[in-house]
Amino acid sequence: MENLRKQDPEVLKAMGLELQRQRDNIELIASENIVSEAVLEAMGSVLTNKYAEGYPGKRFYGGCEHVDIVEDIARDRAKEIFGAEHANVQPHSGAQANMAVYLAVLKPGDTVLGMNLAHGGHLTHGSPVNASGLLYNFVAYGVDEDTFTINYEEVRKAAFKHRPRLIVAGASAYPRTIDFEKLGKIAEDVGALFMVDMAHIAGLVAAGLHPNPVPYAHFVTTTTHKTLRGPRGGLILCRKPWAAAIDKAVFPGTQGGPLMHIIAAKAVAFGEVLQPSWKQYAQQVINNAKVLADTLVGEGINIVSGGTDNHLMLIDTRGLNITGKVAEHVLDSIGITANKNAIPFDPTSPFVTSGIRLGTPAATSRGMDETAMKTIGEVIAMTLKNHEDEAILAKARGIVRDLTAQYPLYPTVQY
Ligand code: PLP
Repeated sequence: MENLRKQDPEVLKAMGLELQRQRDNIELIASENIVSEAVLEAMGSVLTNKYAEGYPGKRFYGGCEHVDIVEDIARDRAKEIFGAEHANVQPHSGAQANMAVYLAVLKPGDTVLGMNLAHGGHLTHGSPVNASGLLYNFVAYGVDEDTFTINYEEVRKAAFKHRPRLIVAGASAYPRTIDFEKLGKIAEDVGALFMVDMAHIAGLVAAGLHPNPVPYAHFVTTTTHKTLRGPRGGLILCRKPWAAAIDKAVFPGTQGGPLMHIIAAKAVAFGEVLQPSWKQYAQQVINNAKVLADTLVGEGINIVSGGTDNHLMLIDTRGLNITGKVAEHVLDSIGITANKNAIPFDPTSPFVTSGIRLGTPAATSRGMDETAMKTIGEVIAMTLKNHEDEAILAKARGIVRDLTAQYPLYPTVQY
C-alpha cells in the first residue's frame, strides 16, 4: 500500500480502521465472508482498466484477448461447480443477476410468485420499493405459523390461484433446507418458469451439502460473496436454450461493461471452491451454525424454527424483552457484528424488528470451530440477557477480544 500511503493517506486511514474492525470483531452477518488474499489480489489488479462489453470472442472493444481467457475460466469453473449448462459471470451483484433474469423472461405487469420478504425473502423478490415490485406483479408465499418452514402445499395452492409466469425460490433469512425439487414440480404443473436465487446457500450447494437447484430450475442466480467466499458480485446459471436470452439481458439489457477484475476474482474464488478442502469448509460452516444454535437454545433463547440446517439462524428476541435493534447495538458494543432482522409474523417495524440474524461463514473462514462457537453462543446469551449491566458487557468484550486474538485475520496485510 506504499503508493496509497503517499498519495492518499486519508482514504488509507479509513481502510486501516476497517481492517482493524474486521480483526477485532467476530463477524456473524450471515451474508458476509472473508475472501482469500489471492481473491483480494485479483480484485486489486490492472484488469480494472479494461473495457470488454460483450462476451468472450464477441466484444465491442479491441484488446480483449486476455480478459477473454479470464472470463472463460470463470464461466467454465462456475458450470463445473454446479453442473450447469451455461453461466454468465458478469452481473455486478445479486440484485443485477435477478433483474437480468426478470428482463429475460417477463413483461412489465407479469405475475411472479416469490417468497414473502417478511418471512425471509429478498428485496429483489418483489419489494414494492424495488424495481422488481414496481415492474412486475409479485404475489407471495410464506412460512407456516406453527413450524416457520415453507408449506409446499400452500405454495402449490398459491401457484394455481395466481398462475404466475415465474416462480422464485430462495431467501435471505431462511434457516432450513429448501426443497427445490418440490418447487420445480409445482412450477412444471402450473406451467410456470422456475428461478432459484441461491445467494445465501451457494457455497453449501457447491459442496453438496444443500440440494442443488440446477437440475430443477430454468434459472439459478447467486451472489458470489456470501457462502461462496468470492468477490462482491453476481452469477446466473441456466439451461442452454435460455443462454442467449440471459446473456442479452445482462448486456446490453441491464449492464454496460463487465468488471473484469471482479470476474478474475470470481474465477479465483471458483478455483478455491473446486478444491477438495471446500467441502471441509462448508461442512464446518454448517457444524458451527448447529453448535451456535444449540448453545443459544440451551441458554433458553428462542431460535426461529428451533434450529438451523444451513449457515444461518434467527434469534427471536422477544423472549429476552429487547428488540432486534437493541440486540444488534449491544452485540456491536462487545465486538460481535450481526444484523437486526424481521422474524416471520414480526409485530414490529423493519427498522426495529424482533430478531437478530446470525451466520457462520465469515467466522468459519477465520478458522473458528465448534469450541469457539460454543463460547460465542455463551457470550451472546450473556450479553443479550444482561444488556444493561456494564460489568457483564465488559466481561463479554474481554472474551471476544481473547477469541479474536486466537484467530488472526490477514496477518500479512498491512494498511
Ligand atoms: N438475493 C438474496 C437471496 C440475497 O440475500 C441478496 C443479498 O443480501 C441478494 C440477492 C442481493 O445481492 P447484492 O447485495 O449483491 O445485490
